[in-house]
Amino acid sequence: MEQKKIYLDDLEIPRQWYNILADLPAPMNPPLHPATGKPVGPDDLAAIFPMPLIEQEVTPERWVPIPDEVLEKYLLWRPSPLCRARNFEKVLNAPVKIYYKNEGVSPPGSHKPNTAVAQAYYNKISGTKRLCTETGAGQWGSALSMACNMFGLDCRVFMVKVSYEQKPYRRLMMQTWGSECIPSPSNITNAGRNVLAKNPDSPGSLGIAISEAIEEAVTHPGSKYSLGSVLNHVLLHQTVIGLEAQRQFEKIGVYPDVVIGCAGGGSNFAGISLPYVRDKIHGKQVRIVASEPTSCPTLTKGPFAYDFGDIARTTPLLAMFTLGHDFVPEAIHAGGLRYHGMAPIVSHLLKIGLIEARAFNQIETFDAGVKWARTEGFIPAPETNHAIAAVVEEAKKAREEGKEKVILFNFSGHGIIDLPAYDAFMSGRLEVHDLPQNEIDRALRAIEKHPKPR
Ligand SMILES: *Cc1c(COP(=O)(O)O)cnc(C)c1O
Repeated sequence: MEQKKIYLDDLEIPRQWYNILADLPAPMNPPLHPATGKPVGPDDLAAIFPMPLIEQEVTPERWVPIPDEVLEKYLLWRPSPLCRARNFEKVLNAPVKIYYKNEGVSPPGSHKPNTAVAQAYYNKISGTKRLCTETGAGQWGSALSMACNMFGLDCRVFMVKVSYEQKPYRRLMMQTWGSECIPSPSNITNAGRNVLAKNPDSPGSLGIAISEAIEEAVTHPGSKYSLGSVLNHVLLHQTVIGLEAQRQFEKIGVYPDVVIGCAGGGSNFAGISLPYVRDKIHGKQVRIVASEPTSCPTLTKGPFAYDFGDIARTTPLLAMFTLGHDFVPEAIHAGGLRYHGMAPIVSHLLKIGLIEARAFNQIETFDAGVKWARTEGFIPAPETNHAIAAVVEEAKKAREEGKEKVILFNFSGHGIIDLPAYDAFMSGRLEVHDLPQNEIDRALRAIEKHPKPR
């Protein structure tokens, strides 16, 4: 063990996660119990999460130690490389230096195992035997499957049926790591059976799959539920990305002017940027930009409100930017960015002006992604293309302003399993979706009866 510690220090993997709750200049709105309207307490969450994760959800401690057992798993792919994109810089023809953290080097190919491994570990030491979760396109399900396998937990993943049928590869990854992947709606839960009774051909949705996974967890002793984004403890685990980047930059004496990440539920964006938000709170000049799809423009168009995390209204009310819990986004290829809400921490930071948000359409993002693949080699995930589109925009601004700029962005995952989306782009079949005003009106109706955040 001693030897490993030296090795870890040498490799720049941080030994602690960073908790932004300790440094916020203004307090956040607490999550509320939908029935009582009162802040939720630990007991309300104990049926679905193990106590160490509930504690991490609310802890005021600035630094949270990463257990050795988790570090040991991180070592399989961390530290992730911090690379300079010199070839991409050349085609942009702008006075910028572009650096990226490549989270695509993890076994499932995205940043998601940074929290999956931690969640599996804390469940294991709390006596959980099985984790239940939902997955859309399968990125989260595959990350949690690998993590459960590592810690000897069973894993049951409810995968949105249309993706289960259309995208077999991530399902096969889950099965290879030994978990059960079930198309949702299924007939093994009440939630699933209710949907099937009304519509036997239901293609499923993330909302239905969440309801099934939570029901499975609460009705089976030894089972818990696991969420791959949005919540404070998930963002906490992801800060390993930004902390590592800071150490890697320190070695070469570089500090970024702009930090960029794509935002679905907000976890990879928060992972790379929260340590920089801390610097900014303490007076550093750094801009921090979240990038999202125009078809699901939560941060750029949604109201800041209390809303449910799922369509079935099983979660606490969270204060966040939201397009309404009943929002059904267009079937864009960046499946990981099709979420109606946004992490309360990320929402709060936008509200108090510490971060900015931008939206890009599918054509702009794939255009940037293909440019990237043809210069830097790696084929980015469709979600990651949103971050790259924001990099392109920042470079253009730098050229117009004649100002030099150092850009850091999070390469959240590779796109090798998303090649059909590239096919659609290259054969001209991708469409541009902007959110129509009636959808904003619907979002406002969805939240109008909820308590109002500060
Ligand atoms: C899931 C996913 C995202 C979006 O989720 P966040 O919680 O917003 O990070 C982005 N990129 C990739 C590659 C993903 O798998």
